[in-house]
Amino acid sequence: MTEPTTTTPLSALEHIKADSHFLRGTIAAGLADPTTGSISEADTKLLKFHGSYQQDNRDVRDERRRQKLEPDYGFMVRIRLPGGVLTPAQWLGLDELAAAYASNGLRITTRQTFQFHGVRKENLRAMIRGINDTGLSTLAACGDDVRNVICSVNPRLSSAHAEVHAWALKIMNHVKPRTTAYRELWLEDGPVGDGATDDEPLLGKSYLPRKFKFGIAIPPYNDIDVFAQDFGLIAILENDSRLVGFNLAPGGSMGATAGDPKTYPSLADLIGFVTPDHLLETCWHAVAVQRDFGDRGNRKHARLKYTIDDRGLQWFHDELQSRLSFPIEAPRPYHFEHNGDRYGWTEGDDGRWHLTLQIPSGRIRDVDGHPRQTGMRAIARVHKGEIRMTCDQNLILADVAAEDRAAIDALVKQYGLDDYKHASGLRLHALSCVALPTCGLAMAESERYLPHILDKLEALLDKHGLRDEPIHFRISGCPNSCSRSYMGEIGLVGRAIGKYDLRIGADHIGERLNALYKENVGEEAILAALDELFGRFAAERESDEHFGDFVVRAGVVDPPKRRPTIRY
Ligand code: SF4
Repeated sequence: MTEPTTTTPLSALEHIKADSHFLRGTIAAGLADPTTGSISEADTKLLKFHGSYQQDNRDVRDERRRQKLEPDYGFMVRIRLPGGVLTPAQWLGLDELAAAYASNGLRITTRQTFQFHGVRKENLRAMIRGINDTGLSTLAACGDDVRNVICSVNPRLSSAHAEVHAWALKIMNHVKPRTTAYRELWLEDGPVGDGATDDEPLLGKSYLPRKFKFGIAIPPYNDIDVFAQDFGLIAILENDSRLVGFNLAPGGSMGATAGDPKTYPSLADLIGFVTPDHLLETCWHAVAVQRDFGDRGNRKHARLKYTIDDRGLQWFHDELQSRLSFPIEAPRPYHFEHNGDRYGWTEGDDGRWHLTLQIPSGRIRDVDGHPRQTGMRAIARVHKGEIRMTCDQNLILADVAAEDRAAIDALVKQYGLDDYKHASGLRLHALSCVALPTCGLAMAESERYLPHILDKLEALLDKHGLRDEPIHFRISGCPNSCSRSYMGEIGLVGRAIGKYDLRIGADHIGERLNALYKENVGEEAILAALDELFGRFAAERESDEHFGDFVVRAGVVDPPKRRPTIRY
């Protein structure tokens, strides 16, 4: 492999990774230290590659400081779950682990997987080992590596959907880390080695400059927001059924840094098409280009989008092409119709049924009137198909026989999992990140604020006769935008406690970012601005026009420009 080409001084984390003996560091010693609930700063960086973040409860941080206590440490643990598919037995296994070791149940993330919060250091090993006992892993769920590969969510809708899901698994297995540190640290009882025989043929001993995300969409559904990925893949189907290949779309990512105009959200752009037999080679070398050219001096500038914008989309195409044994073809035509989930029952080509349930903020726990965790446990005990996670933090009870639908419906109703039947269009399409109290980067509330702001927005929608309008609303607690808040028709991006940037104007198919409308404003200003815009939308919209399209057509905001297209 080519060694990193960064000429500026390497960031501190590059040294930590390179000296870590393939992600071992001193994690084992840190876990064994009973005098603290934390591990060393350097090890927290390495732990991410193993699927866990050290966090602390920010609600009690000041009080504990006053009492001269160390922060209330807990660990977030995230699963790697390509395509978001679980068996009911795996669900029950994760549910047991959540009850034993985590706080607040399970949480479905915006990358089709689960994370648990509040795991104590002394339980971390049991938690990760337990996840592996269910047949799943946490390796590369976080860190500077290839993250969970996502794909359009319902593989059983057609044979092509199943094929694409299989490709998501193959990509993940092809590019995942090879270090034996994971097995030694979490799964074995013996001593942790020194990595002398380890090799990372793709990632190298310094791994990647930052995270790298693949996602596969199957038109007409862009339910994964394919253009938000570092490397998006658009499945091309012949006659709506036969998979003939994938369009390649590199350069997307949501994250930005507050107050740093050199950082920004970006959508991916098309550079070509490859047939399925060339997909793994393409993905390997796409990662390798970023490994070799990504910025290892400045982590805020280390995502693939910056490599592309510094050197050009054409440069990326040509560099990737130079490493491949076949020609990249011109992109094939495709058409997206929407980028949200479709709720309720849908029937697949094979006559099997699939039920999409709304899970507010992806949180599976028991709350008043909605014992969702107990309900899902009851469903998993009788469900014979699979359970699938969506990128909008919802879940699908997939592969249900027609004769089993009534029993599932009864349980869904009994346990208050039927919110989707009564929710407003905005609530059905609302996403939030975790933010406070656990996320160390949060500048404002997100998940905990969502129910409150939704109630107020619904009152405005009712006032203007827009209750059923499927407006995509996304809120994040900071500009990292884990909830893809830059792709909401309405997006709130946290700037400080109680203050958000109000952004509007993304489209309904995931092909346009929103734009800043009001900067760093509180709830009163947000509601006043949206009250006026909802009123104009209700009065001036064209037939079937979505809110995001309206505010752009009406000139309320100018959407950000995409990169120039390249020659093929
Ligand atoms: Fe934390 Fe920011 Fe991500 Fe929200 S968007 S989970 S606040 S990093």
